[in-house]
Amino acid sequence: MVQDIETHYREALAGSGSLYERASEVFPNGVTHDNRFRRPFPVYATRAEAGRKWDVDGREYIDFWMGHGALLLGHSHPTLVNAVIEQIRRGTHYGSCHELEVEWGEWVKRLVPSAERVRFTSSGTEATLMALRLARTFTGRNKVLKFQGHFHGWHDNVILGHKPPYDRPPPAGVLPAVAETVHLCPPNDIDTVETVLQRDDAVACVIIEPTGSAFGLVPTRKGFLSELRDVTERYGALLIFDEVVTGFRCAPGGAQAHFGIVPDLTSMAKILAGGLPGGCVAGREEIMRLLAFQGEPEWDTFRKMPHQGTFNANPLSAAAGVAMLKQIADGQEIDRANRIADRLRARLNEVAASHRARWVVYGDFSRIAFFPDCESPAEDLKAIQEGTYDHRKLRSVHPKLDGPFQQAMLLEGVDMTGWMGLTASTHTDEDVDRTVQAFDRALDRLKAEGLVETAD
Ligand code: PMP
Repeated sequence: MVQDIETHYREALAGSGSLYERASEVFPNGVTHDNRFRRPFPVYATRAEAGRKWDVDGREYIDFWMGHGALLLGHSHPTLVNAVIEQIRRGTHYGSCHELEVEWGEWVKRLVPSAERVRFTSSGTEATLMALRLARTFTGRNKVLKFQGHFHGWHDNVILGHKPPYDRPPPAGVLPAVAETVHLCPPNDIDTVETVLQRDDAVACVIIEPTGSAFGLVPTRKGFLSELRDVTERYGALLIFDEVVTGFRCAPGGAQAHFGIVPDLTSMAKILAGGLPGGCVAGREEIMRLLAFQGEPEWDTFRKMPHQGTFNANPLSAAAGVAMLKQIADGQEIDRANRIADRLRARLNEVAASHRARWVVYGDFSRIAFFPDCESPAEDLKAIQEGTYDHRKLRSVHPKLDGPFQQAMLLEGVDMTGWMGLTASTHTDEDVDRTVQAFDRALDRLKAEGLVETAD
C-alpha cells in the first residue's frame, strides 16, 4: 500500500517527532521562531556543511533555508569558522571597544553607498527599531509608511501588515496608539504613497524591503525605488532601505548599489554578521550624529537618541562579519549564488511544466519562490517578475497544500522556508540536480493525493 505523505513523514522523521514532544513541554508550539513551526512537527538538525544539513534521524537535506538568509557562503564556511575559532580563544566579550568592530564598520562604509556612519545592533529587528527612531528624532515627525507584506522584524512599529489580511486590527499586544502611527500601503503603488505623504505631514519615514517583501516574493516594480526616492525627498520624509536580507546578497553594496538608489538610512543584519547574531544601521552622517554625545547636558540627556545593547559589535560577530564582508567584497560569491538560483528556477519550471502543473518557480538574485496557483504559468511568471501580479495572491496561503508540499520536499531531501528558498555560493551542481529530482518526485506524491491541479 502506498503511504500518504504525512504518515511517511512521521515514520521517516521519527527522531524529530520525539524531540518535538519534548520541545512542546518547553516552548509554546515547541518552537523558538514562528517560521520554524511545521505540521506535524519540524526537523531537528544536528550538523550542516556547505549546501547540506543532516537531522537527528541521519537524513541528509539540501538546505535552501540557509540560516534565514544569513549564510550566503553556505554552512560552516572554513574562512568564517577559522575567524570565529581564532577570536573565541582571545575572548568573546571585552566590554571594551576593540579593533575588529572598527574594521567591521569600515567594511560596511566601504561597501554600502549610504553608509557615511554605522552603528551596530544585535539583530535586524533592533536595526529597524533604531532606524525608525532616528527618523523620528531627525524629522520631528511621528509616523511611518510601510508596505503590505513587508517584514522589518517584530517590534511594535513594523509588525503591522507583515502578512495578509491587511485590513485587520494590529497583531496581539501591539499598542493601538502605535499602530495608528503606521500607514500601510500596497506595494508598487507610488500614487498611494504620494497621496499619504501629501495629506499627512507627520510621516517621518518610508521603510521598504527594496526588492519586495520577503526578498522578492512580491517583486518590486522596475522604477518604483527611484519614484520613492523622489517622492520622499519632495515631502521631507526619510527613505529607509531595510537591507537585512538584500544587503550583501544583491551586490556587495546591497540593493542600493545594484539599483543605484541611495536611501537616507539602511538597516542590515544576517550576512552582515557572517551568520552570527548582529545587525547595524548605516546612513547619512547628519542623521547618525543623533546617536552621539556632544558634551552639552541638554543635548546629551534629552536630545541625543539613547542606544545600548550588551552584544552590539561583540567580538565573535565582528570576527565572522569581517571575514564574510572580505569574502563577498568582489561580488563573485554573490554571482555564484545567483547563477545557481538561475539554473534552479529554469529547471524547476521545466519539471512543473512536464507535470502540467499550474505552478511557477520565480525570483531574482538568489531567491527561489514556488507559486502553485497560476492561471497560465508563462503569462503569470512574466507578470510576477514585472511586479504587476496581484500581490495578495502571491502572499496567500494554500491551506491544503502547505503542509504536504513541505513534508514531500523534506521526504525527498530538500529543506526550504515554506514556499521559498535561498541559494548559497557553495551549493553544487549535484545539489541542483538532486533538488530538481526531489521536486519531480514531490509533485508525484502530491498528485497521488489529488493535490495538484493540472493544466488539462
Ligand atoms: N528585516 C528583514 C527584511 C528581515 O528579513 C528580517 C528577518 N527575517 C528582519 C528585518 C529581522 O531581523 P532579525 O530576525 O535579525 O531580527
